Amino acid sequence: MDDLSRFCCLNSGCPDHGQRGAGNRTVTSRYGPEKSRRMLRCRTCKARFSERQGTPLFDTRRPAAKALAVFRHLADGCGARQTGRLVGVDKDTVVRYGLRAGGHAENLHDELVAFSPADEEGPAR
Ligand SMILES: [Zn+2]
Repeated sequence: MDDLSRFCCLNSGCPDHGQRGAGNRTVTSRYGPEKSRRMLRCRTCKARFSERQGTPLFDTRRPAAKALAVFRHLADGCGARQTGRLVGVDKDTVVRYGLRAGGHAENLHDELVAFSPADEEGPAR
């Protein structure tokens, strides 16, 4: 049984839009290399979407391991050219992945910070 608790409906018109763990997602099929990617369906609105949709990996042509290697090098402070050389992809690919992951990280940060407890001592000095 697949654990789908971390997925949410991506249809903005659905009453369950953005609610993780609502228990209304099912796997309808698998696709991609060796059928490694799941196609999910929302029981509430019947919308289908890739499990990678809404993630930095969506619509990347390279294998996930290569995309993750790009993200790790960027996170470690490597520049686009250096990352491209080390991972073996074009620097433009590195820039494209970096921009996509950056936007995703910003959204996730805003979502998680909203649930962070207030620090009564204020920010660290
Ligand atoms: Zn839905």
